[in-house]
Amino acid sequence: MEFLPLFHNLRGAQVLVVGGGEIALRKSRLLAEAGAVLRVVAPEIGAEVRELIERSGGEQILRGYTESDLNGCVLIIAATDDEPLNAQVSADARQRGVPVNVVDAPALCSVIFPAIVDRSPLVIAVSSGGDAPVLARLIRAKLETWIPPTYGHLAGLAARFRHQVKGLFPNVQQRRAFWEDVFQGPIADRQLAGQGAEAERLLRAKIDGDAPPTTGEVYLVGAGPGDPDLLTFRALRLMQQADVVLYDRLVAPAILDLCRRDADRVYVGKQRADHALPQDQINQQLVDLAKQGKRVVRLKGGDPFIFGRGGEEIEELAAHGIPFQVVPGITAASGCAAYAGIPLTHRDHAQSVRFVTGHLKNGSTDLPWKDLVSPSQTLVLYMGLIGLPVICEQLIKHGRSADTPAALIQQGTTVNQRVFTGTLANLPQLVAEHEVHAPTLVIVGEVVKLREKLAWFEGAQGTV
Ligand code: SAH
Repeated sequence: MEFLPLFHNLRGAQVLVVGGGEIALRKSRLLAEAGAVLRVVAPEIGAEVRELIERSGGEQILRGYTESDLNGCVLIIAATDDEPLNAQVSADARQRGVPVNVVDAPALCSVIFPAIVDRSPLVIAVSSGGDAPVLARLIRAKLETWIPPTYGHLAGLAARFRHQVKGLFPNVQQRRAFWEDVFQGPIADRQLAGQGAEAERLLRAKIDGDAPPTTGEVYLVGAGPGDPDLLTFRALRLMQQADVVLYDRLVAPAILDLCRRDADRVYVGKQRADHALPQDQINQQLVDLAKQGKRVVRLKGGDPFIFGRGGEEIEELAAHGIPFQVVPGITAASGCAAYAGIPLTHRDHAQSVRFVTGHLKNGSTDLPWKDLVSPSQTLVLYMGLIGLPVICEQLIKHGRSADTPAALIQQGTTVNQRVFTGTLANLPQLVAEHEVHAPTLVIVGEVVKLREKLAWFEGAQGTV
């Protein structure tokens, strides 16, 4: 190991920064965040650095560096583009045995800055010992996506109760078991979901020895339209926690594969008219599983609240007092439009967009036609294939031009995406000609023309 990672408490300590430009600014910012008192020496010092110095209660020295500037400093940073000067600062600091960092010159450093993931009080440092800083930064970016921003609050919660728990369990093993339970169970779930007060209440109850809640929880998770890359961080985290996953037909296998390996998977798939499980039985199953103490992910295509019957499911959960979270997902309209190169609104062509279902509860396609024919409104039809001939006919009949551009997007955002464009007049014909099948989204409006203008081609968004 070339460098030993240590975390330096700089609160109230004097740190010398030699240099007053852009590089000095970056380092000064970090140092100020850690509570250091900045002493900056340089013939010229930028306004932002000056502001940081002032806020840190430090001092600026507007001249060239001299050895005595090191007096009283616990850490030295050389951040100039003058190599001999940087080398001199490094040598002086080493002579005094004070840690020194020279920006972009690992050989002159006794300490180096890692790439940092800051979830204070939780801080993660990644270093390549100066050999491959870009790699360290990429690893940092991965960690950033993997560790939700609210993790810091979880650590904060633990900090507030640390002493109390220590008093309760003098035995270190018991204490460890206690905290493992907290960090992996419903208390952490609540805190990470932003329900800090509830997390604290549960933690207090646990400390007081109250029986833990035996009910599980249901996560209604939007899995997006198909491409696993479109999942949210929260969706992924909950998918990797859940004991059981209930999923339907629209959820791509590649997404299901991201669930915890040993989670039970239950297919409750819905095909138009051919429901694997009627909705009330799905609702009941969610309630039953949660009552058994399970953490249940109800994985839904797109967004749970857009033609996803998410509302009905949480109504049932609420009626039974089952805790739940709803995680939004990218709905088919957003996903398909982006991957097909069709902006849903456009200042010149569409000032509004309307999401419409082509399949009504009573099985009919009885839509409010008069509201759907404005030429400056984009229509997005979900579940519109079966009723398409009627829909096109009625739109034309009620005044939307037969020439209105329209698109069919089958299995949008997936590697199997197919896009066909035409007009309101010939759309049903395109369906027959190309054997288009579900899931397919229909977009109607002038914006469809922009696809050609943007010279969009399949593969532009990673689809082939
Ligand atoms: N909750 C989902 C919609 C469910 S309704 C969402 O927010 O996207 C099911 C309809 O959504 C399908 O009939 C189809 O019209 C549309 N749909 C969902 N995923 C799609 C995809 N990947 N490509 C095209 N259409 C899709």
